Amino acid sequence: MVGPIRPPSEAYSLLVRVTENCPWNRCEFCSVFKGQKFRIRPIEEVKEGILAVRRLVEETYRWSERGGYTVGQVAQLNGILWLQDDGVRNAFLQDSDSMIMKTEPLAGILEFLCGTFPTLEKVCTYARAKTVYRKKPEELKRLRDAGLSRLHIGLETGDDELLAYIQKGVTAEEQIQAGRKAVEAGFEVSEYVMPGLGGRERWEQHALNSARVLNEVNPRFIRLRTFHPAPGTPIHEKARREEYHVQSIEGVLKEIRVFVEALDVTSELITSDFAWNFYLGEVDGKFPEEKEKVLAEIDRALAYWQAAGEPRRNPFMGNLNLELN
Ligand code: SF4
Repeated sequence: MVGPIRPPSEAYSLLVRVTENCPWNRCEFCSVFKGQKFRIRPIEEVKEGILAVRRLVEETYRWSERGGYTVGQVAQLNGILWLQDDGVRNAFLQDSDSMIMKTEPLAGILEFLCGTFPTLEKVCTYARAKTVYRKKPEELKRLRDAGLSRLHIGLETGDDELLAYIQKGVTAEEQIQAGRKAVEAGFEVSEYVMPGLGGRERWEQHALNSARVLNEVNPRFIRLRTFHPAPGTPIHEKARREEYHVQSIEGVLKEIRVFVEALDVTSELITSDFAWNFYLGEVDGKFPEEKEKVLAEIDRALAYWQAAGEPRRNPFMGNLNLELN
């Protein structure tokens, strides 16, 4: 059983669902798990799933020997993208916040997974900042030692007013503490920022405070996920009633420029792994050495959109059917 989402960078990872849905489920922009009940899967159920995967891997090895193909070729031909010639190398724990589990049961699952697939090099998961914030440093270290290597954390914004507005359930200070604790425990931390989330009203404070929080954390990766109002979400309703004003493409680009200028990190900025970032072009870069290149790319994108003229129908507006004015 596979959950509905994983980061694009986990496209070739074995997906292991340790919880189902979201224990928080209140973020106003998020439609992924709305209406779905959260549950922690029983440990034996998760382990049975891992053993079933091992049987599939063993079967693939037998087919490889019989057919004269490599293991990777048999796996690819059968849509098993997470199995290569040298075994299972990456795994991703689903769904939205595996760290909500008590530390020992989660560590037990990690040890069982890594013991079943000794070729594993990387095990990653999504984690809510508030949940990481609540874990003790020794609990984080325990999970790191048990084999968990990377945390994908949805920062969204580092601005307290906006965090409260979107009901993220965490403060900027808690996000800083969570990120620092995770880095200190030895995790590769990947933080997700949502350009455009502040709308036309809060774009600047969103940009500057997000950079401020990230400067304090200095995560391994910073990933941008441009906001668009998903139908059925509270923020979409607010936009429809014109209580919230969706930012223009030019406005989002200006916001990202302010954000990038304020960054003082040694992180890698990744924007090209998300379709809704199409308007940015190629602005990936390692900081600080490629910061100027990133800024130049943003300027190039800005010049393009300014020359093109703002489209009357902004794709960020989803199905709102509003015209820009
Ligand atoms: S914590 Fe993540 S999955 Fe849960 S509601 Fe918020 S954005 Fe959605």
